[in-house]
Amino acid sequence: MSFTLVIHGGAGNITPAIMNAEQEAQYTRGLTEALDKGYHILQNGGTSLDAVVAAITTLEDNPIFNAGRGAVFTKKGLNEMDAAIMDGSNLMAGAIAGVRNIKNPIKLAREVMLRSGHVFLSGEGAAEFALNQGIEMAPDEYFFNRQRYDQWVEIRDSDYYQLDHKADNLKGQTDPEYKFGTVGAVACDAEGNIAAGTSTGGMTNKRYGRIGDSPVIGAGTYANNKTCAISCTGHGEPFLRAVVAHDVSCLMEYKGLSLQDATAVVVKDKLVKIGGEGGLIAVDAKGNYDFCFNSAGMYRGMRNSDGKEVVAFYGE
Ligand code: ASP
Repeated sequence: MSFTLVIHGGAGNITPAIMNAEQEAQYTRGLTEALDKGYHILQNGGTSLDAVVAAITTLEDNPIFNAGRGAVFTKKGLNEMDAAIMDGSNLMAGAIAGVRNIKNPIKLAREVMLRSGHVFLSGEGAAEFALNQGIEMAPDEYFFNRQRYDQWVEIRDSDYYQLDHKADNLKGQTDPEYKFGTVGAVACDAEGNIAAGTSTGGMTNKRYGRIGDSPVIGAGTYANNKTCAISCTGHGEPFLRAVVAHDVSCLMEYKGLSLQDATAVVVKDKLVKIGGEGGLIAVDAKGNYDFCFNSAGMYRGMRNSDGKEVVAFYGE
């Protein structure tokens, strides 16, 4: 019985030129810690769903990633987060958008899937549900990060928004300098069940109510045992328009493409044609996996029961 865990910590202009040794060590530690947590669950016979939640929770708790604690600031100077999870064994899914003060948005997404009777909750409704379910909250200070705050202060009076880390302004278009810090995980457990999850703070200075691809089932997150589990990261608007995650699944289901061929069609061709920069991680129910991105790099990691481990940032 083989099992596999794949994670990402965002994609973008990640090159050796913009990373120093200390940052490389920081990201290596952050990704390895998340792999440890998730893999431990798979190794002990746990489900892909639990492994995905454990890995993403670890990334959400690490402020270097734009999710949970490290979420970026919106136009109003708040941290509004999106997350989704999907269970490929039964096509159950849970998602939340625009939530504040939730310590681990991925856990709330899982609660929505398991206990709300719905798939997608947003804003105040999601907050009320979180309260009722006893989901752990955190004060505004918990989410405060000086670097991300300064990025926001620089552009808060403009109409521009930006995708994590970088101070270059965007107006709905990609910029070669930016990186995305969203986190995600996909896993295949020993039973051959697969799951996917994604969690993000979205984009610095994003408009009130803006929702990206990450929490939208079929766009940023999707899982189906028959095909694949996918978690995306990148400029959310083109990813929404290309319905990326479900498109990969459809190419496998209806056209019989392999995991790698399907991800390449969507990420390297379809997305490129509409200016969608970013990438995705993928796994199928046999434990085959793929990292696919059209940006310079993607923070990523993989560990499987064949003893293989990958932690990487840059393109080939
Ligand atoms: N896809 C995310 C969004 O548009 C951003 C990211 O991947 O960092 O909200």
